[in-house]
Amino acid sequence: MKVVVSLDEVRQARGNLKGPIGLVPTMGYLHEGHLSLVRQARKECESVVVTIFVNPTQFGAHEDLDKYPRDLERDLRLLESEDADLVWTPTNEIMYPAGYQTWVMVEDVSKPLEGAMRPGHFRGVATIVAKFFNAVQPDRAYFGQKDAQQTVVVRRMAGDLNSPVKIIVCPTIREADGLAMSSRNVYLSQEERQSAEVLSQALYQAKEAFKAGERDANRLRQVVLDKLATEPVVKVQYISCAQPDTLQELEGQVERALISLAVTIGKTRLIDNIMI
Ligand code: AMP
Repeated sequence: MKVVVSLDEVRQARGNLKGPIGLVPTMGYLHEGHLSLVRQARKECESVVVTIFVNPTQFGAHEDLDKYPRDLERDLRLLESEDADLVWTPTNEIMYPAGYQTWVMVEDVSKPLEGAMRPGHFRGVATIVAKFFNAVQPDRAYFGQKDAQQTVVVRRMAGDLNSPVKIIVCPTIREADGLAMSSRNVYLSQEERQSAEVLSQALYQAKEAFKAGERDANRLRQVVLDKLATEPVVKVQYISCAQPDTLQELEGQVERALISLAVTIGKTRLIDNIMI
């Protein structure tokens, strides 16, 4: 496994890899969710490239950029054992040198949900992913359903910019109690961690209600809200029942929907979603 930092190095190393090439972009502090993407890429591609970069432009001014967890040594050990071929760990100066002024903005699908709560977030995401696609020129890129809106934004960006990269979305990996794995879960105290299991429970209850015949978008959102309300430390930012491709909020009868939520528990912000 080769580990590189500079653009010249990554271009050169990429040139020596056999295609098809699979790219897995991450912010590091890897867990089984990230590794599931690497494994999927390993299955489908001849070569696997992983980026580790805590992208500053996708964090808001008051977000957790400075305290975002990092452990490069451990990440590299894990990637080595997953048989990744190339790991790119660029610096802020490499990705955003002095004078940097080019941004990728995906319009409508960036606006609701995470985009509404985190202004500028998807501008940062779309820009860095486009830059990774340019530098690595992968055939396929792997993203987690955990960040559902991100997959919609990235797909739109790649299509709109005529990128040949195929976007692959992999299922959300969860802890034994259902909590979606996230690098941010380490912020939770023991009690907060316990309360956090209500997130997936609330989503599964909505799915059960749907299976039992509930089709009304408002009532599905209410099922989620009622369950979250059983844990007073969980503060709801949004609960959405949206069309999965446009992310437009649904009203009335639904046949297919992305149910998603964002909450804070103490100082930690968590998101999760389920498809029905
Ligand atoms: P991050 O390091 O948080 O930027 O995540 C890097 C990639 O891993 C993104 O495509 C995420 O959607 C994906 N990912 C994060 N958590 C999970 C999870 N629990 N299950 C599956 N994929 C995940």
